[in-house]
Amino acid sequence: MKVINSISDLKKLIENVKESDKTIGFVPTMGALHKGHLSLIEKAAQENDIVVVSIYINPTQFNNHEDFIKYPRIFEKDIALLENTQHCDILFMPDDKEMYPEPDNRVFNLGYLEDIMEGKYRPGHFQGVVKIVTKFFDIILPHKAYFGKKDFQQLAIIRYITKQLKYPIEIVACEIVREPHGLAMSSRNLRLSDKDFYNAKIIYETLSKIPNWIKQFDIPTIKENVIRNINTVEPFKVEYIELVDSYDLQIVKNINNHKSITACIAVYCNDVRLIDNYEIIL
Ligand code: AMP
Repeated sequence: MKVINSISDLKKLIENVKESDKTIGFVPTMGALHKGHLSLIEKAAQENDIVVVSIYINPTQFNNHEDFIKYPRIFEKDIALLENTQHCDILFMPDDKEMYPEPDNRVFNLGYLEDIMEGKYRPGHFQGVVKIVTKFFDIILPHKAYFGKKDFQQLAIIRYITKQLKYPIEIVACEIVREPHGLAMSSRNLRLSDKDFYNAKIIYETLSKIPNWIKQFDIPTIKENVIRNINTVEPFKVEYIELVDSYDLQIVKNINNHKSITACIAVYCNDVRLIDNYEIIL
């Protein structure tokens, strides 16, 4: 595994790979790697000759400075883990000067997708995500790029912008990897106490009840149930729960008009913000 810090070194390596007609799979991450990340990397290794992983905590996608400061940084451990998997050929770990030598003032039209859920509660977040992902795409231009369904709305936005900007890149969606008790794996889980980590299973437990609730209740009642269920476990507080169409993310008003619905949720555990989602095929 080659560890690269500069864009120019990465470009040289990528050029060599492309000259030899090999395919490239790209997995962008912010580090503090867990089995969720590894599942993306494994899939990339199965489907491509060369796997490029990036670890970069992108400042422009944090709308909350404290969240940025407290984001887990365990780079040595990450490098060792990636060496161990033997699935990563090139690890790109740039610093801020490399990725943002000057402010990136581009504004992307993300339309409706930016107005709801994560877009609404984390203003500017997706602009930052798209800034960094397009920078990576421009440098690497992989054949395929891998994103987790854990970040359901991010995946939709990446698909949208890839199409809009006509990148010849296949976006591959990967299933959510969960802890044995159901909590979606996340780097931010490292910030939970043992007790909160255990109790956070309430999020997935509650989402799993929605298919049953859908048969009995209207949508406002389902949302109330979700909030009540989770908020009774201290110190968890639901920020939002939304039921959206799985394909176009339109807010669901009448269940009968949809083939698949995804329940998306953000929950605070003190100052740690957790997101999850659950697909319901109808
Ligand atoms: P992050 O490091 O949190 O920016 O995540 C990097 C990539 O890994 C994103 O595409 C995430 O959606 C994906 N990812 C994070 N957690 C999980 C998980 N539990 N299961 C599947 N994919 C995940």
